[in-house]
Amino acid sequence: MPSPKCIFCAIAAQKAPAEIVAQDDAAVAFLDIRPAAPGHTLVIPCQHYATIWELDDVASLAVMRLTLRVAHALRAAFRPDGLSVMQNNGRAAGQEVLHVHWHLIPRWHGDGLRLVRGPAVSPDEPLPEVARRIRAALPTA
Ligand code: AMP
Ligand code: ZN
Repeated sequence: MPSPKCIFCAIAAQKAPAEIVAQDDAAVAFLDIRPAAPGHTLVIPCQHYATIWELDDVASLAVMRLTLRVAHALRAAFRPDGLSVMQNNGRAAGQEVLHVHWHLIPRWHGDGLRLVRGPAVSPDEPLPEVARRIRAALPTA
């Protein structure tokens, strides 16, 4: 179901303007209106899911399939040195639009973009304990 006030639902339904670069039945790719680099593209599922925690397997597969296609197109069209694929969930992570989306950002040596984390923090728990906690919480595949 589309979410009534969601701008990305409106773009997926072609009821709001966007530079759509690719789409299929389940996912849409369009240009970010405030690009961090030439070719900065967003990929979304057509259905409304606020964050990655609501997403199901079918929608996530559709998003990843379209992400791969667009990644190849960006490489062919812009010849970047690299590509950052990033995704924010929740306000604490900097998510502005609460319709799950993936950023595809072409990168060049020396482009000065600061998307990468800073220096490592010293963990409160040793890594084996952190890994044990995550393994114990994994949903069944
Ligand atoms: P995030 O901070 O991960 O939620 O990123 C949201 C992104 O959506 C930002 O990079 C915005 O520039 C972009 N954005 C917001 N509204 C639109 C829109 N109507 N069309 C295209 N991109 C948008
Ligand atoms: Zn939506």
